[in-house]
Order: sequence, then C-alpha cells, then structure tokens
Amino acid sequence: MIPADHGSLLDFDRDHVWHPYTSMTDPAPVRLVTSASGVRLRMADGSELVDAMSSWWAALHGYNHPTLNAALVEQAGRMSHVMFGGLTHEPAIRLAERLVEVSPAGLEHVFLADSGSVSVEVAIKMVLQHQRGTGHPERTRLLTVRGGYHGDTFGAMSVCDPVGGMHSMFTDVLAPQLFAERPPSAYDDVAGWAEAFRALAAQHAHELAGIIVEPLLQGAGGMHIYDPACLRVMREVADEHALVLVFDEIATGFGRTGTFFAADAAGVAPDVLCVGKALTGGYLTLAAVLCTGAVARGLSASETGVLMHGPTFMGNPLACAVALASLDLLEAGDWAASVARVNAGLVAGLEPLRHRAGVIDVRTIGAVGVVQLDHAVDVVAATDAAVAAGVWIRPFRDQIYTMPPYISTDDDVALICRAIGRAAEVA
Ligand SMILES: *Cc1c(COP(=O)(O)O)cnc(C)c1O
Repeated sequence: MIPADHGSLLDFDRDHVWHPYTSMTDPAPVRLVTSASGVRLRMADGSELVDAMSSWWAALHGYNHPTLNAALVEQAGRMSHVMFGGLTHEPAIRLAERLVEVSPAGLEHVFLADSGSVSVEVAIKMVLQHQRGTGHPERTRLLTVRGGYHGDTFGAMSVCDPVGGMHSMFTDVLAPQLFAERPPSAYDDVAGWAEAFRALAAQHAHELAGIIVEPLLQGAGGMHIYDPACLRVMREVADEHALVLVFDEIATGFGRTGTFFAADAAGVAPDVLCVGKALTGGYLTLAAVLCTGAVARGLSASETGVLMHGPTFMGNPLACAVALASLDLLEAGDWAASVARVNAGLVAGLEPLRHRAGVIDVRTIGAVGVVQLDHAVDVVAATDAAVAAGVWIRPFRDQIYTMPPYISTDDDVALICRAIGRAAEVA
C-alpha cells in the first residue's frame, strides 16, 4: 500500500495515473488537493488557492456547499442508483421537468447522459436518425464552424476544429464533416460571414443532416466570443434546408455568458440542446440532451423506431438530485446579478493588461475573462506565478483565462485578475 504521506502519493500518481492530455513518460507536474470549500482549494502544503477555473467551468456555487451536500446525502440514503431501462425515479423526472421549463421554447424531451461528450454523441445520433426517419438517409454530414470544441469522443471530435483542434491526428478515422468559417465578433464582417455560411450550406444541402455549434462563446477551441446575429443566420439556414440545429451549451449554459442560455442572447431556440458541466454545480458528472417534439417524432420513425443509446449510469439519481438542488440555488439567488458583478470585476481587473507587451487581446463575457498573448503560454511558469499569488488557473494555447464561481467576492475576482497579470508577465 502507498504510505499516506503526500510525497508518496504524488510519486505513485506520477508513475501510474493519467491526467487530462498528459504524457506518462514525461508527465507535467500536478498539485495535491486535500479539500475545498467556497471558492478555495486547500492544498497539501496547507496553502489555499482561489479557484479561478470553477473546476473546468462547473462549480458555480463553490465547493462543499451545504445545500448541495444535503441533497446528495439525502438521495444516497434513499438510493444511489438504479438502472434506467424499464425503471424510473422522481429525481430524473423532476430534473427533466425543470430542464424543459428553463430551456428555450419547444425543447420538450430529455435524454440524461453521463458526460458532455456522450451528450454530443447522443445529439449527433438524434440528428442522423431524424434524417433517416424523415426519408433522408443520404443526409449524414454535419455543418459546423471552425474553432469549435465538442468533446473527446470520436463523434464529438469530428466536429471539433479540424486544424487548431487537439485531434488533428485522427482526421483519417473521423466522419468527414463540413466546416464553415468561424463566426465573427460583433465588430467584424458579420454580413460577409453570413453570406458565405448560407452559400456553403446551400451547396451541400443534399448531404447535410444538421448544424452543430457552441452558441456565442467557443470555449476550449479558443475562447472566441461572436456576434449573436450569427445564431439567427444558423436558425434560418437550418429551416431553409430542413437541417436539425444543435446548440452545445455544455460550457455556456446556466448563466455563464450573462443570459441563462447563450442562445437566449440571440432569441434563438435550437432543435437540440446539450447541457453538462455546471448542470450539477460541479458535484457529479451528468449531461442532458433536449430535443423538440418534431425531432423526437422524426427519429422515432427511423428503422429501429427507438433512439439508439442507453448508458449504464443513465439518469443517475445522485447526480439528478444534486442538479435539482443546484438549479434551486440558481433560482433562489440572483445569478444574473452575480454574473454581472463578476463581469464588472473582470473588466476592471483585466482591461489594464491590454497594453502590456505580449498581450494581443483582453475580452470578457458574463463570468468569463480572457487574456490572449502573442505566443503560446508557458503553462508551468504561468501556473506557478498564479499559485504564488494565491490563485489556481489552467491556461491553454495562447490564452490565460478565468471562469470563476458565481459566488466569488469582489476581492476574490480582484485577486484572480492580479494573479493573471503575474502569470502573463512570465508566460
Ligand atoms: C467540456 C465540453 C464538452 C465535453 O464535455 P465532457 O463532460 O468533458 O465530456 C463538450 N462541449 C463543450 C462546449 C464543452 O465545453
């Protein structure tokens, strides 16, 4: 057995445990966390770090939240899990009710999946089965935009950015999807983009099944914020060519960009919606795919008559119970005011970095702040500098960014911005 001391634990970790996107032969350093509370991670050396990442954009309410803890314990006392084939339960039913209620109009049917990537796979199956069920089995390609990120499984990877994406080495085994240009920011040529997008869709309409994008904010593909008008163009194009419009709101859902869903900023409702990440307030892995009645009827008319998916841990009651409690917290607190307050702090703290040498852009939307450099970030140096300033960040590519928990105080946000400034100096 590994001795309980921190050094021994880290030694075993380095030799045996994979972390996201890391090498087993030349592993990047990792830090040992012992507990977390509010916005703070307690580290093995006794120090505390403000978590500027919300554990990859999930922990909206912070850690060790009494309400979320209570929901989990109460559900565990009743049942932690039962299979969802042939059985159902109140937490899943109530969560489905809430998701239908809070999501854009027309989304009525809910598939509970066990991670964001799986929900994207399910959404893609819905699109393809819908085309088969409505007499178009030849329509099998998806139209998406460059710069996207939709997950790490193969279907999801096929719609990730084909060039800058993390998956270019798999190109030969991925479904050949169709990529339009990245949607422009509000101050760029939106009309020109729209014309090209319409033309590409028209040219390929006979083989296209659907459109899939991250609305308003492309996350892991480059933290790019674009004009909501582009979403209205996508809706029109989808309607014109009978394409199923999928919005992947796994990163943007639940208030992150300032509206409850990013799609709300454009007044556009998709035919299929994926949510995940913050769904359980960062407690457990859970995602959901919502679709319209038309999509549900279309796919149910495909040759199998059923949606061909059903994970072992579908509708896990613990995850559903904590998701319901998280949605209650969002509703009871004024999430919109919290996100606006965090945004004001990010603007105040990050804008001054705009004129620093090496910084080419600073941008914010809702509770998201990004500092883009003119070179790839030295992740180890940047992380060390932020940690020395009391903050946990995880930069990628040429970007140092934060998505703090909504409960972050003004002082927490100011500290995060100072730490990002330090990181940008050494990165
Ligand atoms: C994180 C993310 C995913 C993948 O979710 P996982 O739970 O990591 O599988 C998919 N789409 C978007 C937009 C994401 O941000």
